[in-house]
Amino acid sequence: MRGNPDAVIVGSGPNGLAAAVTLSAAGLKVLVIEGAPTIGGGCRTEELTLPGFRHDVCSAAHPLALASPFFRRFDLAARGVRFARPEVEFAQPLDGGRAAVVTRSVEETAARMGADRRAYRRLFGPPAVHMDEICAALLAPLRRPPAHPLVMASYGRHALLPASTLVRGWRTPEARAVMAGAAAHAMMPLTAVPTGGIGIVLVSLAHAVGWPVVAGGSARITDAMAEAVIEAGGAIETGHWVRSLAELPPAQATLLDVSPRALISLAGDRLPSRYRAALSRYRYGAGVCKVDFALSGPVPWTNEDCRRAGTLHLGGTFEQMAAAEAEVAAGKHPEHPYVLVVQPGVADLSRAPAGRHTLWTYCHVPAGSDVDMTAAIEAQIERFAPGFRDLILARSVRTAVDEEAHNPNYVGGDIAVGMQTVRQTIARPVARWNPYRTPIRGVYLCSSATPPLPGVHGRCGELAALSALHDVFGIRETPDISPARLPFAPAKPFIPNAATDASP
Ligand SMILES: Cc1cc2nc3c(=O)[nH]c(=O)nc-3n(C[C@H](O)[C@H](O)[C@H](O)COP(=O)(O)OP(=O)(O)OC[C@H]3O[C@@H](n4cnc5c(N)ncnc54)[C@H](O)[C@@H]3O)c2cc1C
Repeated sequence: MRGNPDAVIVGSGPNGLAAAVTLSAAGLKVLVIEGAPTIGGGCRTEELTLPGFRHDVCSAAHPLALASPFFRRFDLAARGVRFARPEVEFAQPLDGGRAAVVTRSVEETAARMGADRRAYRRLFGPPAVHMDEICAALLAPLRRPPAHPLVMASYGRHALLPASTLVRGWRTPEARAVMAGAAAHAMMPLTAVPTGGIGIVLVSLAHAVGWPVVAGGSARITDAMAEAVIEAGGAIETGHWVRSLAELPPAQATLLDVSPRALISLAGDRLPSRYRAALSRYRYGAGVCKVDFALSGPVPWTNEDCRRAGTLHLGGTFEQMAAAEAEVAAGKHPEHPYVLVVQPGVADLSRAPAGRHTLWTYCHVPAGSDVDMTAAIEAQIERFAPGFRDLILARSVRTAVDEEAHNPNYVGGDIAVGMQTVRQTIARPVARWNPYRTPIRGVYLCSSATPPLPGVHGRCGELAALSALHDVFGIRETPDISPARLPFAPAKPFIPNAATDASP
């Protein structure tokens, strides 16, 4: 197989595998080459701390996978992937035992927002109702006009504002905290555009589809994709870091699930200087320091609702979180950082031995940081859950530098593979009619550095694969990726090839 694939894909993240699934469904023989010892990229699950404690190494909360048109057609449920739903989608504890709490219901959530309940309903209610249309547009090729222009115009009116402007006039710490916690996923100051748009989408997704974890761990998603590829006759090789396009077996199409920086180095002098210069100008954002915990029990949040939340945003009020994010943007390590927390055990008991729990956390840090933020992260948790430290059995820490060492796509620890500025959202990674196509014939970029956006939704990979199908193989129809066309063998666990080289 290695010698005669129709298409080679470098990288087995959700986008690389989405490309492989799409090409396999079109009847092509694909070879996926992954550098790490295991497949999955940012969608993996491992025993990072102690035996029996299964931690999501990167992605943990999956609103985008649920909303993704790609995964809907692929039909994760039919392939045995089950989303485990917490009762509270996300929460944000405040000092004094209060908390901002977001559940599936807009009405129920708004009712907790006191004086801001009407403003909350007005901002998040319509996009939550029209989430399918909004996702179809946001997760579509940008050059295509939206199928529902009125819905998009109404969303876009607010989406192009910074989060700080959207909450101007909001009075309750709870409503303001909801916006800050969601908007800060952008990894930018909350005064920047488009933090408001990112906040609106993430809150509305909580109402429209929820923020579930995957039962058994995020790896179930990428394992299901790998199984479909192998079942269709494709092959996946792990433990092979590709250093140059020249070392790849001959194939009509090559799809690269890599960063723009890696594309420059893989292609060498085969890239025209203008395109290479444009790729070099691509801007990477802040990094993350991730800390996973094995706990002897559930986190003792002071606020009862926080004990039922899948995801929590720690940092306190809008102003406190905005200050933390501004510090990161200024190259500093905040003493009181914005901390993202996922407690999978509230919805999925399979992650740890009986009575025990895993806890997933990270905070933002300046790009390229090698600072271990464990103390600051634990202090933020302890602030809202006194006694937390007594539960810690073990920790696993990855600084921003470590993130890049494990996966070269995360340049400087930037898990979004590029700042999400307006410019880099519209022209990602460079301004081209087809952002997936590179100037090298048959070579495509398919990572989250291409449109539509970072996250586990598979659309970057699928859209790159559709471009390759059209250009190289003359196939214009979108292949059927459903289990009917791409069967699977759920009884057969996915076993990748043996690892040979674990360092990128
Ligand atoms: C800590 C963290 C938390 C996150 N949380 C969430 C979340 O909760 N929800 C969400 O939706 N998203 C989350 N994300 C983002 C999400 O994981 C990514 O957006 C997504 O995985 C991008 O998919 P991808 O296929 O483009 O790239 P990746 O998943 O990064 O995969 C790229 C793959 O290519 C391989 N590779 C790169 N270069 C080479 C080479 N030269 N040779 C061989 N192999 C190579 C890498 O090893 C990797 O396996 C998170 C990411 C991180 C790191």
